[in-house]
Amino acid sequence: MTSGDFDTPGAGPGDGTRAVRAGLPEPVKYEPTLPGPVFAAHFHLPGEPTGPYTYGRDENPTWTHLERAIGELEAPGEDGVETLAFASGMAAISAVLFSQLRAGDTVVLPDDGYQVLPLVREQLTAYGIEVRTAPTGDDAQLGVLGGAKLLWIETPSNPGLDVCDLRRLVAAAHAQGTLVAVDNTLATPLGQRPLELGADFSVASGTKMLTGHGDLLLGYVASRNAGLMAAVRRWRKIVGAIPGPMEAWLAHRSLATLQLRADRQTANALAVAGALRGRPEVSGLRYPGLPDDPSHKVAAQQMRRFGCVVSFSLPTRARAERFLDALRIVDDATSFGGVRSTAERRGRWGGDAVPEGFIRFSAGAEDPEDLVADVLRALEESAE
Ligand SMILES: *Cc1c(COP(=O)(O)O)cnc(C)c1O
Repeated sequence: MTSGDFDTPGAGPGDGTRAVRAGLPEPVKYEPTLPGPVFAAHFHLPGEPTGPYTYGRDENPTWTHLERAIGELEAPGEDGVETLAFASGMAAISAVLFSQLRAGDTVVLPDDGYQVLPLVREQLTAYGIEVRTAPTGDDAQLGVLGGAKLLWIETPSNPGLDVCDLRRLVAAAHAQGTLVAVDNTLATPLGQRPLELGADFSVASGTKMLTGHGDLLLGYVASRNAGLMAAVRRWRKIVGAIPGPMEAWLAHRSLATLQLRADRQTANALAVAGALRGRPEVSGLRYPGLPDDPSHKVAAQQMRRFGCVVSFSLPTRARAERFLDALRIVDDATSFGGVRSTAERRGRWGGDAVPEGFIRFSAGAEDPEDLVADVLRALEESAE
């Protein structure tokens, strides 16, 4: 799939153009195109303390450029979108949940989402917030939505790669006054645009494919609703979950290659999934980009790229470990979305309801022939 496939003709620049120019300030003679990181705890501020830049926990010019860039990718051509950068994906997720929910409120979470959500659930419950959960697949969260203040969606879910119908869930939630937040980490804004599909918040970890080099942690929240965002901003200020200027700058620099990385990594994921398909030792293969994947039909209605994560199981834990050991250009590491392929046996962490031989594979930007050859060789070598 190319970046133009889902773009309406005449709807403005394509993804590649947008990515390389996102968030750049107006050119200033003798200044760099992307201004360097601004390291400042405080700014010169004589007289009345009006913004934009007062104290380094509230605002920073390097964040401003990055936040504009992410906003332009999450909602191209829209002026009213506000984006806030955070120290990590979890900082961004916590900011939405804890700024929007009060004791007595109900929130619906996925029960097959990111592995830290159960800890979040414990904390929400301790604050008197009722938490209901349901799986991502088959839009099962609809069944427990009644009376909820907020619906939290993760699609595709990590690591099971189930997909739910965003438009359908948003319509049902909004019909009863429920807010909707979507974790857009796996897809990135070039893969899926939750705000255009009706969500109130698009939230993500920038640690994964958004920045793609495995060298920084970052998170963000984007929304069109200024009132909701005022509470998120206040939360960032009182908790202090702010990104460092260097991380923010590195992230912005990395966005320039997002379309190149996303296209290559998505194509590589499809190539790996295609090679694993039909292998006798592989079961439970999932990739939303495979035409016969259970998620494909819904994914194709709402996604523009299907991400770089492929999941599957090998028969036993020992076989999975031998497979991971035998890989040469795929690192055994957690996380996903980087330019270097990684894979891990997910069960080593506990927490995810997955088989012992379950592998989460993140396709990087290597040449597809090399990557597929490495995977097939490792499968052969790991056989007893
Ligand atoms: C990694 C991840 C997070 C958390 O992001 P951090 O940057 O590690 O805090 C949240 N949601 C999903 C889907 C993730 O993969």
